[in-house]
Amino acid sequence: MSVKYVLAIHAGCEGITREYYGPEAVEEHLAFLRKSLAAGRAVLDGGGRGVDAVCATVEVLEDCPLFNAGRGSVFTHDGTIEMDASVMSGEDLSAGAVAGVTGIKNPVRAAALVLEKSPHVLLIGAGADSFAQSWGLEEMGPEYFQTARRREEYLAAQKQAGEQFGTVGAVCIDSAGNLTTASSTGGITCKEYGRVGDSPVIGAGVYADNASCAVSCTGEGEFFLRRAAATRIAALVEFGGLSLEAAASTVLENIRALGGKGGLIGVDAAGRVAFSFTTRGMFRGLARQGEPDRVAMFGPPGIWQ
Ligand code: ASP
Repeated sequence: MSVKYVLAIHAGCEGITREYYGPEAVEEHLAFLRKSLAAGRAVLDGGGRGVDAVCATVEVLEDCPLFNAGRGSVFTHDGTIEMDASVMSGEDLSAGAVAGVTGIKNPVRAAALVLEKSPHVLLIGAGADSFAQSWGLEEMGPEYFQTARRREEYLAAQKQAGEQFGTVGAVCIDSAGNLTTASSTGGITCKEYGRVGDSPVIGAGVYADNASCAVSCTGEGEFFLRRAAATRIAALVEFGGLSLEAAASTVLENIRALGGKGGLIGVDAAGRVAFSFTTRGMFRGLARQGEPDRVAMFGPPGIWQ
């Protein structure tokens, strides 16, 4: 039986206000969201698998210097770039992730290789970089990742406390009815050398299970880790009888109660989607088979059915 595919994306949720983004910047960011959806659609229209669709989608956002993943990743406290990414398939709970990679152009591809080619789930640091290199993934030097804008933010963040974060991600139900998720991030500006957030941690920043839903989170990773956010949403759907939207709101409120904020996207086995956030906006987009793309960045949150 063929299912109508659904693909949802996010590209971070921090500092998205109308005061900060003028009309031109809004259009520029939304154009990249549309480009990302188009890449995922190209895979899904050809009958491709969700894993390939979410990777193609996230790859466009990693290549875009505007978002905090791949090119355009934020700087660590030491002025270096350390990226995290993950992919999970709800069909068989296979998963792959990398943390602290420094020279791979598309960390989400490295995560997919861990899923497909290795017996492991999570590779870190130099080992993850060299694993990706051994499979021929494209490498880039530090100057590719370190954009002028991120350097300015880094220098400002060194002087005053405050954080800058962002992640890109995608969730999908493909025409075989399988749920998939992916995330990719540079983490949080001025993070400690070696810090890993929620995005490459299966169950925290991402989770996908055909029995419930696929989720990709963005926000203050430490809180999503402490709440095991993505798997908690899946459990509330599977065992708690909550709708995906109610489960997403519950977990974001749990995180707020701890003092954290963020957002997430999800899709369930019936193709219902959730776009939830406790910040003022979230870069987001939705592609449903046979319907026009929808993209947005400011609040309020909500579901586009
Ligand atoms: N969750 C990411 C991290 O903590 C950052 C973000 O999504 O904004 O690394």
